[in-house]
Amino acid sequence: MSSPKKTADFPIPLGTGAPYLPVAIAGDPATARLRGMAKSVDVPGTILERLRSACSRLETDAATCADSSRDWWAVGLRWAHAGRAGAIAAAIAHAKTAEEVASVLRICNEARVPVTVIGGRSGVCGGSIPVFGGVLLDVRGLAGVVSVDDRSLVLDVKPGSFGDHLEYELRTKHGLTIGHWPQSMSLATVGGWIACRGAGQLSNRYGKIEDMVVGLDVALADGTIIRTGGASRSAVGPDLNQVFVGSEGTLGVIVGSRLRLHPAPAAERRAAFTFRSFTDALDACRRILRRGLPPAVLRLYDAHEANHKYKTGDRHLLLVLDEGDPAVVDASLSIVSAECASAEQADPGLVGDWLAHRNSVASPATLLDRGLAWDTMEITGSWRALPEIYEKTLAAVRAVPHTIVCSAHQSHAYSDGACLYFTFVGRPPDGEDAWEAYYNAAWDAGTRAVLAAGGNLSHHHGVGLNRARFMREALGPAFEALVSIKRALDPNGILNPGKLGLPSPFGSVDWP
Ligand SMILES: Cc1cc2nc3c(=O)[nH]c(=O)nc-3n(C[C@H](O)[C@H](O)[C@H](O)COP(=O)(O)OP(=O)(O)OC[C@H]3O[C@@H](n4cnc5c(N)ncnc54)[C@H](O)[C@@H]3O)c2cc1C
Repeated sequence: MSSPKKTADFPIPLGTGAPYLPVAIAGDPATARLRGMAKSVDVPGTILERLRSACSRLETDAATCADSSRDWWAVGLRWAHAGRAGAIAAAIAHAKTAEEVASVLRICNEARVPVTVIGGRSGVCGGSIPVFGGVLLDVRGLAGVVSVDDRSLVLDVKPGSFGDHLEYELRTKHGLTIGHWPQSMSLATVGGWIACRGAGQLSNRYGKIEDMVVGLDVALADGTIIRTGGASRSAVGPDLNQVFVGSEGTLGVIVGSRLRLHPAPAAERRAAFTFRSFTDALDACRRILRRGLPPAVLRLYDAHEANHKYKTGDRHLLLVLDEGDPAVVDASLSIVSAECASAEQADPGLVGDWLAHRNSVASPATLLDRGLAWDTMEITGSWRALPEIYEKTLAAVRAVPHTIVCSAHQSHAYSDGACLYFTFVGRPPDGEDAWEAYYNAAWDAGTRAVLAAGGNLSHHHGVGLNRARFMREALGPAFEALVSIKRALDPNGILNPGKLGLPSPFGSVDWP
């Protein structure tokens, strides 16, 4: 594995192109204590031998399997810190081609063995934890650009490509960008972006990943490979791309993708404003979006977060950045100035401070050493509902005993609404059970407040294991439609069982 590499022509050091987890499993990972959320499915030796000849490499080493059976979910990190694991796969199948993926799926489908696809394992909802054991299907070997169509602005890229390396190649070789820049740019893969319905920090201008997907290649549970989408804005029945965008490995394995591109930005402008009221600041964002030319970034920090990061006292802080064609950027910034006329201008240098740290993450190991529990809760709501969601969610989480702080910022905005990104930290009493009890109480309180005020469960982290319990409530009767799609595409239920709250033939999951 190579170490991060600084380059003069890219804003962040290029990552290692491999998963990085910030907390090691304490002690010997081979003997990690199981949390025991569900009964592990037995994978017979004969199946392992068939899998070995079907893929590029099969690993069964206990320590590697334990270490690969987790992601960035705070609870999983807490387990690792205590020498525990949520669940452990029997094997890791490394695939380098779509055909290898299909072969692995075919074998597991016949043998009724659960398959959990893994990419960068930067998911924060426990989506990569193989709840019922079985096989981890590592698709990082399917990496690299297949083609770039500069005339149509379409990229054909394999799913195991890491974001930073891909964007670096597009900018330096082609003068193009995807415009998708999540905080986890160097931790996550294209397949993970699509599977989790992710959002980059510039999504106001470029859209979320679901807006970028032109077409997909998907390996279904029985090994059939299908191609969805393809041409610009077709009207050939429902958009099958969107069945798989956000499906979190439960409906198929993404083995290829065509994504929209943009010319690399020729101009960039920044601005910053402070407001006395968070609701007034939200409303300024709403009016900017309503005028039809949003800047790429409108990040609105509530006073708590603004003062913590930028020392702005009791003011709420709006950071604005736009990039792209100079004429567009000038126009969008003049709209911003007009709609923020009643706010106070702040130092646009604050945007530079944000850019310098936009991919930095607080150290989870330090938080755990200090006995803290934490997480982030990103949700969406309509402009009409957002002020109430903000107030009620903060109040609900702050009321959970042991909460030290709960704050929020608006991170992504659209004409119809925006994403509020809540962060909470608590100091539960000592002990594993107390930590989990506090963590789940905070999630229950926050999520129920969001749903009651008309908000949506998630904006871009997805559901995974952590939010599975809220799915039925969040989707209402539409949840049964999702269950029917799952049954039709994966009748044996082998794909990432235990996630999205979907029923599983392998049993139920004891979480939380
Ligand atoms: C520090 C940090 C910051 C983050 N910031 C952002 C952010 O700004 N925006 C954002 O959207 N997210 C963010 N995330 C969350 C995470 O990075 C994203 O969800 C990311 O898209 C996951 O990609 P991955 O390759 O790591 O997927 P994994 O974690 O490996 O997998 C996530 C889920 O997708 C499924 N999956 C993975 N690959 C495939 C495939 N090829 N086919 C089908 N299913 C697949 C897995 O089964 C699993 O359910 C952040 C995470 C961290 C740790």
